[in-house]
Amino acid sequence: MVLLRIALLILAAVLALPAQAEPKVESLRLYAFDCGRIVFDDLGAFSDTGEYDGQPGELSAPCFLIRHPKGDLLWDSGPGDRLAATPGGVKIREGVRAVVAKTLQSQLDAIGLRPDDIEYIAFSHFHWDHTGNANAFARSTWLLSRREVQALEGQPTPTSVTPDNLSAYKQAKVELIDLDRDVFGDGSVRILRANGHTAGHQVLMLRLPKTGTVILSGDLFHTRENFEQGRMPVFNYSRGETLGSMDRIRRILKNTQGRLVIQHDRRDFDALPKAPAYLD
Ligand SMILES: [Zn+2]
Repeated sequence: MVLLRIALLILAAVLALPAQAEPKVESLRLYAFDCGRIVFDDLGAFSDTGEYDGQPGELSAPCFLIRHPKGDLLWDSGPGDRLAATPGGVKIREGVRAVVAKTLQSQLDAIGLRPDDIEYIAFSHFHWDHTGNANAFARSTWLLSRREVQALEGQPTPTSVTPDNLSAYKQAKVELIDLDRDVFGDGSVRILRANGHTAGHQVLMLRLPKTGTVILSGDLFHTRENFEQGRMPVFNYSRGETLGSMDRIRRILKNTQGRLVIQHDRRDFDALPKAPAYLD
């Protein structure tokens, strides 16, 4: 009885504590999270001109958090924290395995944030390896490419999309994007149309106070070599649209002397500070 009383007192004390306030930022920051990696027996499908045929390899599968004084944006959400329950990795299909060593949830925790603190979520595109944790952000505003949503809702379901991954958008607050979108209205965080990998593929352009312009590639480029040589996957939605988007992003990088982060290239990911460190 005494123990029960003590337990109730502790419970009452815990409930009386104010919820942990979200730490705010005074200027723009980019946090990179390790959300997993994808291991391939054969990377052949990542160039439709044959350069990788028969070569094994792996791609990084990061998530990014952009913290702005007016709010937070999660850019891509990785293969999904549920895969972390299988440490050796999960077979996605023949010859393809996804490994999640660290959860996104734990990496948000480490910087004092919960999914409900994140005002916006956006995706380069809806493939499974970018939308795995999307439903954890049901209370965020979802900034979605209209073309990507139209493809998702059409028949047949686009390849490599798992609609259940992002089903929360149906109940969430959604803002559809037709062209580019200036997320916070000051030009520092812009979603840029870069169609071709999928119907509504986009990249994210940041203007960081110290680093300058940084572009997160989505899957416009999968490797440094694909960027340098203009290679693209066999499974892209449109070769022509991809070439147009590559041209656009190359010109912006040149004009701004910007830094391109190729999300699936481990070398680019390794070159970034990892949360709780950040780029500003
Ligand atoms: Zn991808």
